[in-house]
Amino acid sequence: MKKKLYINGEWMESEQYADLFSPYSEEKIAKIPQASEEQVNAAIDAAYENREVMASLTAYERAEILEKLVELLKENRMKAAQIISLESAKPLKFSLGEVDRTIETYKFAAEEAKRLHGEMIPMDAAKTGANRLAYTLREPIGVVAAITPFNFPLNLVAHKVGPAIAAGNTIVLKPASQTPLSAYFIAELLEEAGMPKGALNVVTGSGRLVGDQLVTSEKVSMVTFTGSPEVGIGIRNKAGLKKVALELGSNAGLIIDDGVDLDKIVPKCVVGAFSNQGQVCISLQRVYVHENLLETFTTKFKEATEKLVLGDPMEELTDVSTLIAGKELERAQAWIDEAEAGGGQVITGGKIDNNILLPTAIVDVSPHLKVSCQEVFAPIVIINPIKNVEEGIDHINDSKYGLQAGIFTKDISTAMHASKRLEVGGVMINDIPTYRVDQMPYGGVKESGNAREGLKYTIEEMTEMKLVVWNQE
Ligand code: NAP
Repeated sequence: MKKKLYINGEWMESEQYADLFSPYSEEKIAKIPQASEEQVNAAIDAAYENREVMASLTAYERAEILEKLVELLKENRMKAAQIISLESAKPLKFSLGEVDRTIETYKFAAEEAKRLHGEMIPMDAAKTGANRLAYTLREPIGVVAAITPFNFPLNLVAHKVGPAIAAGNTIVLKPASQTPLSAYFIAELLEEAGMPKGALNVVTGSGRLVGDQLVTSEKVSMVTFTGSPEVGIGIRNKAGLKKVALELGSNAGLIIDDGVDLDKIVPKCVVGAFSNQGQVCISLQRVYVHENLLETFTTKFKEATEKLVLGDPMEELTDVSTLIAGKELERAQAWIDEAEAGGGQVITGGKIDNNILLPTAIVDVSPHLKVSCQEVFAPIVIINPIKNVEEGIDHINDSKYGLQAGIFTKDISTAMHASKRLEVGGVMINDIPTYRVDQMPYGGVKESGNAREGLKYTIEEMTEMKLVVWNQE
């Protein structure tokens, strides 16, 4: 099926198309337009020229568009999930989960649109501030360029499009080349929901070319990017003075303290490590388990992992399917081989079967090996013993990333201590680092990013604060 670019409220053909293949079946599923330089400029111009239209909508009107979108997504729940599964190989049950989260994300955006407000400033608290009335306003920032990754093609678009609409901005969206169908689907639904013409534009094509044009355009006020640290840092370096919000990768870690109930924890760890084939920015990659529990934990973890259903992402029962691209399978296998050669013990998985990398757990991996210190982004988890929680904290902090971390412990002071010492954007007490709901502030430190998503927080980033001071003398 030939898709079209969405520019200034029109569906447009392009001169060049790229074939899109399903990662699992390897069948051709669509022809994707590759926007020319002129077409990307036209998208930026449309967003720029319609800034005032969008900014002049009332909070009620912005919320209404988002509420309608919520209803349309509810009606199209299965269709949206099938699109995600087809283009990304995310197993259908997780795609349905992503659609449900997306519905909540847009719902939160609708609610936050109505809560966008400034504050009164007590001017007379200053010696020379008498007889002044002052307040702040939150004004739309203007054109937001949104660049999104493949791994949550619907909900991570929602984390940019939702708050941009709530704040009264216009948008140029550039989805990942492997997952453009979910983005075009949202554009169709938003058109139906009454989004003003030109307020949302979707352009597809090479990340480097289209991305560069968006990042360097003077008409774009903010770039919001979710993806790999390499690309994110490149964007930051090219963006000049425009605001740049980066949500990047990680090698999320979990500490399991002595004395906890492993029967409750193991199923969570299996989901955290292997859902969406480990292609989640907060996927559980490193488990540091108290040495007294190591044997029981690894036995139970192996047992639970081997019960996972592997196969076609379009099947209801599938837990794990293939990675986003063949070269990712090869990379992941090479990293496992390196870990094994370096002394790690593969207790389950470790090989590719029928185009699927078997969910893999490796015990006793030294910290300089890639499966430990880099972002693995595949169904691979390492399990290392620790003597105490302190050692686990040191391991987690010994990383260039810092997105989220988790700790299971029965000891309240240990939990408090860990929450203070862990160098991450979010600490999950008695949960896996993969835990997320969509209104919470979410983002990282170090190479994991420089911003927080979660509707209220993104909206803050997507607005400018204006101060108004009335001299009443
Ligand atoms: P990616 O390769 O960095 O791509 C992300 C987006 O950037 C895609 O739309 C890509 O387009 C585009 N892009 C590529 N080169 C560009 C350039 N030079 N200038 C501007 N844009 C460019 O990441 P991915 O493989 O899709 O996603 C995986 C990464 O995302 C992982 O590192 C993961 O941890 C991270 N992630 C982070 C979060 C978070 O919230 N912190 C959430 C999810 C994922 P093309 O597809 O056309 O190349």
